Amino acid sequence: MSNSAPRLLGGRYEVGELIGRGGMAEVHLGHDARLGRPVAIKILRTDHARDTAFLTRFRREAQSVAGLNHRSVVAVYDSGEDRVQEAGGGTLDVPYIVMEYVEGRTLREVLNAEGTLEPREAARIVQQVLEALAYSHDMGIVHRDIKPGNVMVADDGAVKVMDFGIARAVADSQATMTATQAVIGTAQYISPEQARGETVDKRSDVYSTGCLLFELLTGRTPYTGEPISLTYQHVNADIPVPSALNEDVPPEMDAIVVHSLTKDRDARYPDALAMADDLGAFQDGMPISPASRGSLQETMALSRAAVGGAAAARGPVPRRDSDTASMPAEGGRARRRRRRISWLLVFLVLIPLALLGWFVYDTVGGNNAASVNVPRVVGLSEEEATAKLESLDLVTRTRTVADDSRSGQVVSQDPTEGTSLNPGDRVTLTVSSGPSDSTIPSVVGMTRGDAEKALEDAGLEVGDVSKEDSADQAAGRVIRSDPEAMSSAAKGTKVDLVLASGKVEIDDYVGQDIDDVRVALYDLNLEVEVQDVPSAESEGTILEQDPGAGKVEQGSTVTLTVARAPDQTETVTTTPSQSPTPTQPSTPPSSSSTPDEPTSTSTSEPTTPTSSSTESPTSTESPTETETSPGNGNGGGNGNNGGGGNNGNGGNGGN
Ligand code: ATP
Ligand code: MG
Repeated sequence: MSNSAPRLLGGRYEVGELIGRGGMAEVHLGHDARLGRPVAIKILRTDHARDTAFLTRFRREAQSVAGLNHRSVVAVYDSGEDRVQEAGGGTLDVPYIVMEYVEGRTLREVLNAEGTLEPREAARIVQQVLEALAYSHDMGIVHRDIKPGNVMVADDGAVKVMDFGIARAVADSQATMTATQAVIGTAQYISPEQARGETVDKRSDVYSTGCLLFELLTGRTPYTGEPISLTYQHVNADIPVPSALNEDVPPEMDAIVVHSLTKDRDARYPDALAMADDLGAFQDGMPISPASRGSLQETMALSRAAVGGAAAARGPVPRRDSDTASMPAEGGRARRRRRRISWLLVFLVLIPLALLGWFVYDTVGGNNAASVNVPRVVGLSEEEATAKLESLDLVTRTRTVADDSRSGQVVSQDPTEGTSLNPGDRVTLTVSSGPSDSTIPSVVGMTRGDAEKALEDAGLEVGDVSKEDSADQAAGRVIRSDPEAMSSAAKGTKVDLVLASGKVEIDDYVGQDIDDVRVALYDLNLEVEVQDVPSAESEGTILEQDPGAGKVEQGSTVTLTVARAPDQTETVTTTPSQSPTPTQPSTPPSSSSTPDEPTSTSTSEPTTPTSSSTESPTSTESPTETETSPGNGNGGGNGNNGGGGNNGNGGNGGN
C-alpha cells in the first residue's frame, strides 16, 4: 500500500532498516516518534502470520517478557498487531514487538567473527546471562531458548538476553518432540529433560546456558549432528570437557561446564545463581564449589572407565584435574603430563578395584540375577508405570509435582529408559498432581478482546470488567488486571480487568505556575493552549482555565490564560504550522473575567509538526479559532473540543 512513506506501527513507531532475521520474524531498526528514541521492532513474517503455532509463540514472547525489567534483559516496550492489506483484497493482522534497541552483536555474530572467547570473557558474559535468568526465574518465566542468537553484547560490553519464554504454549500442550522442535528451532542447546519431552524448569535454562558456555570456550556446541542424534546425545552421551577441545580452558571452567551439563537435573546446579556464583569465583581467582569439582571428577572417571583406551580415543579426555581451583594457569606442559600420568594410574588401579569391590558386594549380597533395562514409563499413569516396573522386579518410589499434564501421569523418571539396573533397584517416578498454577499474562494495553484471548490461552477466565480514567491507555484498553500480571494463580481463576475510560481528570490550576501545570497536563496526555494577557499577577500565573476542574476527554485541549508583565512587549509563540498573528492587548483582565480581549496564543504541540498534521482536523481547529478571531471568546466551545475526534494516544511530550 503505502510504499513511499515509512511504515508506521501503532501510530507512533516508524519502521526503518532491516537489522536482523530470525526463524520467524524480521527485526527492524525503528523510531518511537512519541518518545523520540530508537527502538528495535520485531515483526512476524507475513508468511507465518496465518500459522497459529508461530502466532502463539510470537504473542507469548511479547506477553511473557513484558513484565521483565532487568539490566541484562532486553526490555520490551510495546506490542501490537498491524493490519495489512493483501493482494487479494483481504486483510491480515501481523503482530509486532517493540523493544529496546541494542547496539552491538549477538553472541552468534561474536562467535562467527572470533571463533572462541577468552575464558575470563566467556565467564563474564555467561555470568550476566545467568543473572538475567535468575531474575526471570524469580518472575516465574523459564527462558526455554538460550542460544548465542538470543544473547547480545552491546558495544559498551553490557550483556542483554532476549526472546524470553517462547514456545511455552507448544511445550505446555504436550506436543510431540518434533512439533516442539519445529517451533523452537535448534536442538543444540536443549536440556535432556526437554529432549525427552518432559516439563522444563529453571534448571533446563542452566543446562542450555552450559551448552552456550561450552561453545564460547571451544567454538562448538557440546554435541553436534542431526537433530535426532543431538536429542539422543543430550540424553545419553558422555559429557564432553571443554579443555579437550581448547587447551586454554582452565579446570575451573571445565568443572563449571560439566556441572551445568549434568544429565540429571537434580545433580546439576540447582539454579542460575549457583552457576553465576561459580563463574564469579573463577573470575576472582577464588575456589569454585565442591559440587562442580565433584561433577568434573565423576565425568572424567566415567569417560576413562568406559572401556579404557577406546573411550579415550573417541571421548573427551580432560587434560587436567579439577581439584585445584586456585591453581595458577601457567602449570606447564611437563606438569600437565605428570598429572595425566597420575590420573592414568588412578584409573588403571582404582577403577578396576572399585569394580571388583562392587561385584563382590553384589554377589555376596545374593543379588546376582540378570540386569534389566529400564523401560520408558513417562506418559503412563502411575499405576501402569508401577506395574510395568514391578513386573521387571524393580522397586518404584513416587514423588508428586504440580504439572500441566493430567493428574496421576508420570512426567519424568530416574533413571531414564535404557539404563541397566539390577532387580530390586529403585526407579523414582515423578507424578503430576494436576495442572500447575498459571502465570497471569500481561494484558496491559490490549483491547478487551485481545486480553480475553490471552487470558483464555493461559487457562484463565475473565472476571469483572470495570472502567477507570487513565492518561496512558487509550479508551477501551486494559490499564491493569487483578491478579496482576506475572503473579501466579490456579488455572481457571477469574481475572478482573480495568479498562481505560478514555477520560482523564484535571484539577483547578488557577493561581499555579504555567510551567508546572503544563508538565502535569502533558502527563495526562492533554494538549495545552496558552493565552498571555497583561496582568498585575506575577508572570506565569494562571488566571483562567477552560475547561475547569473535572473529567475531560483524553487528548483534548485545555486553554490557560496566563499572566504576563503589563509593560512587556508582546511575544507570540505559535505552533510550527501556524503563522504568527501579533495582536495588541487592550485591557488587563481581572482574574475572574472571561478572556475576551485580544491575546497572543501559543498552542503547545508536544509532538512534531508531522504528527500534528496527521491528527484529526478537530484537534487543530481550536488554536486557529482563538488566534484569528480575537473578539470571539473561547470560553464556551473550545475547551471540550478535540476530545471526540482526537485519538487517545495523541501527542505526549512527557518524556
Ligand atoms: P529465533 O527466531 O529463533 O528467535 P533469532 O534469535 O536469531 O532466531 P530474532 O530473535 O528474530 O532471531 O532476531 C534476529 C536478529 O535481529 C538477531 O540476531 C539480532 O541481530 C537482531 N536483533 C534482535 N533483537 C534486537 C534488538 N533488541 N536490538 C538490536 N538487534 C536485535
Ligand atoms: Mg531470537
